Amino acid sequence: MSELAERFETHDPGEKQVAEKIRCDACPVMCYIADGRTGACDRYGNVGGRIVRLDPLTILDHAAETGGTVVPFVAEGEQWNGELVNTGRRFVTAIGAGTTYPDYKPAPFIVSQQVEGVDLVTVVTEGIFSYCGVKVKIDTDRHLGPETATVRAGGEAIGHVTTGEYGSQMLSLGGVHHLTGGSKAEGRATCDALLNLCNRKPVELTIDGGASVIVEAGKPPVIDGKVEHRMRVGCGSATIGMFATQWRGLVDEVVVVDDHITGVVSEHQAGKVLGWQDTGIKIIGRRSTPGRYFKVSEPGLGWGGTSISDPLSILGEWNAKKGARPGLSMLMVSTTGEQFAYYELDDELKPVEKPFPNRLQKSVGLIEDNCEPALCTVLFIGGAGGSLRAGVTENPVNLTRSVQGLKTYVTVGGAPVYVWPGGGITLMVDVIRVPEGAFGYVPTPALVAPIEFTLRRDDYVRLGGYEAEIRSVEDILAKGGEYLNPRRGTGAPASNPWPPLAQLRRAAANGAT
Ligand code: SF4
Repeated sequence: MSELAERFETHDPGEKQVAEKIRCDACPVMCYIADGRTGACDRYGNVGGRIVRLDPLTILDHAAETGGTVVPFVAEGEQWNGELVNTGRRFVTAIGAGTTYPDYKPAPFIVSQQVEGVDLVTVVTEGIFSYCGVKVKIDTDRHLGPETATVRAGGEAIGHVTTGEYGSQMLSLGGVHHLTGGSKAEGRATCDALLNLCNRKPVELTIDGGASVIVEAGKPPVIDGKVEHRMRVGCGSATIGMFATQWRGLVDEVVVVDDHITGVVSEHQAGKVLGWQDTGIKIIGRRSTPGRYFKVSEPGLGWGGTSISDPLSILGEWNAKKGARPGLSMLMVSTTGEQFAYYELDDELKPVEKPFPNRLQKSVGLIEDNCEPALCTVLFIGGAGGSLRAGVTENPVNLTRSVQGLKTYVTVGGAPVYVWPGGGITLMVDVIRVPEGAFGYVPTPALVAPIEFTLRRDDYVRLGGYEAEIRSVEDILAKGGEYLNPRRGTGAPASNPWPPLAQLRRAAANGAT
């Protein structure tokens, strides 16, 4: 809780006004705010004796979706004059909508729209998420830390390393245990890191027993101070499979060095099919199947996510009885093509590095060309199956059932979400698809995220919705809402569908109309 909130926490919560201060009831902190001042989260202020949501309500213009052009129709801070400048597809998001916590009254905006002859309703509110976190995918071969290692921000534990995926390392950050189950400092650091990650800002994370990494959604990771440029083309075995044909006739042996599965073309199934000759090579590692080796080294920041800087360190003695001979040529390459070297066996059957031949440049270049840019991906995950449902319907479980039955389409700031199967409304959204600056926080601590529910009007009435509160888009543009903030129009991200139409199409495709 902030200093400001602490200063006022002794006041009677039932008292609406203290001296000249007024109470904000948008979250459990219940700040008392003096005229001209803001509350502890800076989202609400006291303006002339009224609680005002300080950021504008954001309305997306989907008419711009094909060209991606941003066409503001109300400048920030301007009052909406009620005239429709752009008659395209609009979507009232919950960004700047305000909250109704505790949810004793209908959501701030319940918006009606007719789409393709069907009356639809979108219920719009900012949600306070004590149960939330982010899943981070970092495209890299490098070893960031052991699985289950603690991830820290500002020295505080905020999450852990989870599985390594295909070319990426996953982190799980936040969640209710870090937000509320540890010390105050841990909760604050967790909330701060989640907020910045969700708002696409860079956050420096350190991993116990591992690396430090700067994570920023949509940007390359920076690992121990070095920018990661490429995501690997595949594991060592897959790389052999993809490029064995290209190497045929150019070199006698190829080893693709990878921390997970190192590939050896002469032994590999792909090499055998192509008639590759035995070379008498010996790999130090655990042989899985022919030409595929696990654990050739410890994981690290070297070649292919191993700890090695000299690839010859994974080789044993060459065997003349199995094909080794002086002059035998060998390419060693990492899974991104960033590291590569060329060797020939001398008279003692020792590999000696030679200048890299032009004939192999193309195949190494092909590995590089097939690598995708390394990026950080941040997915916000939150539980919306709690009290915020009461702002949507008088019978909250009906909303959960409607979402699960595909009758209600959920968006975060207009961006499509993935709703987990099973109970509740546990959703995930790619923060890159959410308009910038959409997330906020309250010092309980918890994250504030926009959330919208779109469904047929008749379904909404049936599930116990607040029919009397339904308003048109035009009315909202003209008059705003109880939090008195201006409206702001902006182009929808080009890749996001217009939610009302997306719901109609999805429901039709799934027979949920
Ligand atoms: S922290 Fe923010 S939302 Fe919560 S009561 Fe204070 S001003 Fe309102």
